[in-house]
Amino acid sequence: MNEDAASPRPLAEIASYHAHIYYDGQTERQHAEWLRLRIGERFRVRLGNWHDGQVGPHDQAMYQVSFANEVFASLVPWLMLNHRGLSILIHPNTTNPKRDHLVDPIWIGRPLVVHGDILGEDHEAEEALEPNTEPTLSA
Ligand code: ZN
Repeated sequence: MNEDAASPRPLAEIASYHAHIYYDGQTERQHAEWLRLRIGERFRVRLGNWHDGQVGPHDQAMYQVSFANEVFASLVPWLMLNHRGLSILIHPNTTNPKRDHLVDPIWIGRPLVVHGDILGEDHEAEEALEPNTEPTLSA
């Protein structure tokens, strides 16, 4: 197929985003705690559970931050400035989780392995989960 002739994928494919904040060891977990508290103070997001072991396609302990498209432009640059050396995977949620995680994500910090072989390629796109934070500070 001639790539130039293909239509670009529209932004409407993206239902929401996830940031996965990884940590390894006690020092990095403390950084992750620091980050989690400050994210919650500044952004309307859904902070997910702590996963102190490997879960799903993720190669290290992490927690997930689910957020709506309109939060991207402030949260992602803020994470660039404040990740404290942690690896953060940011991926869109479209109908293809495998491609979202393996082909189309961006990384802040050092990229890690993602075990995408367990992910599907045809899912319902995931809307942002209901926020569980009440921001009181500006970013
Ligand atoms: Zn995710």
